[in-house]
Amino acid sequence: MREMRDPGCENKNVSPTPAQQARAAAIAAEIAALGFALPGTLADRMTRCGHASCRCHADPPALHGPYHQWTRKKDGKTATRILTDDQLADYQPWFDNHRRLRALIAELEALSLDIAEADPRWNR
Ligand SMILES: [Zn+2]
Repeated sequence: MREMRDPGCENKNVSPTPAQQARAAAIAAEIAALGFALPGTLADRMTRCGHASCRCHADPPALHGPYHQWTRKKDGKTATRILTDDQLADYQPWFDNHRRLRALIAELEALSLDIAEADPRWNR
């Protein structure tokens, strides 16, 4: 098992600065503490139904909603589900966690690229 305080720094050939090591450890600790993470995007949508005589087809239209629409990629296709107010309240932190997780991964990747680019062994 890898030490939490020293993520990936057991390799003596690379030389992250103390600040880079500290940031990587902080990112790893935050990821470890995140909890569940739901992928996809949330949007509140107003819609029209299929009944031509409905108020949503009137002039001016009175659309249905707003509905909490959750969209994500599933097996290469777009999957859409509608969340109830209760579900939105329960799962909102999970969507927030996923957004934070993506940001932390992007920062860890950028940090790692900086360290790798500083490696003196590259042959141009
Ligand atoms: Zn309608």
